[in-house]
Amino acid sequence: MDYTDKLCQLENVAAYLDGELTAAGLERFEQHVKECSICANELRVQRQLLCTLDVAFNDARAFDLPKNFARVVTASAENDLSMIRHRHERRRALKLCVVLGLISFGLLGAATRTIVVDPLRSLFHTARVLSDLLFQALADAVSTASVLVRMIVPAQPGLRLLLMLVFLASLFCLSLLIVKYRRAQIIE
Ligand SMILES: [Zn+2]
Repeated sequence: MDYTDKLCQLENVAAYLDGELTAAGLERFEQHVKECSICANELRVQRQLLCTLDVAFNDARAFDLPKNFARVVTASAENDLSMIRHRHERRRALKLCVVLGLISFGLLGAATRTIVVDPLRSLFHTARVLSDLLFQALADAVSTASVLVRMIVPAQPGLRLLLMLVFLASLFCLSLLIVKYRRAQIIE
């Protein structure tokens, strides 16, 4: 094993998941992950996120979120939360916020795609999707908020402000999404 095997190259995690590593790089990375908890954890987090986004985006019914969407997000958030008071407190909190932000933006993207690519959906279907979405969004918001509140309350003042801002940004994205849906409904 040469010296480079000991170094963390976190960008390899994404390359690994995208299947972009060379055969030699792949072997080196897999060997490194076995011995490095930082990279192993990064791999776990990114793989989980990919799964969540894949399920949300690739579902044939385009915008019917999976039934356990809120549970998956909450479980992964709580999983991160349980480790938050250890060494990488700030980094983990930030990463969780990024995940929540990505999900908000992901929802926004999926909504845009549904509206742009599928403009011929019937009014009935749109109305049904809208009501499903509102219900789902509400359920997600409640579970996400409960996780965030538990995270925000014991956090340090600076971190608390950041978390609140991210939470508000997520809410903003969600309301934007609902407005877009309403507009689509009116057009049809
Ligand atoms: Zn490493």
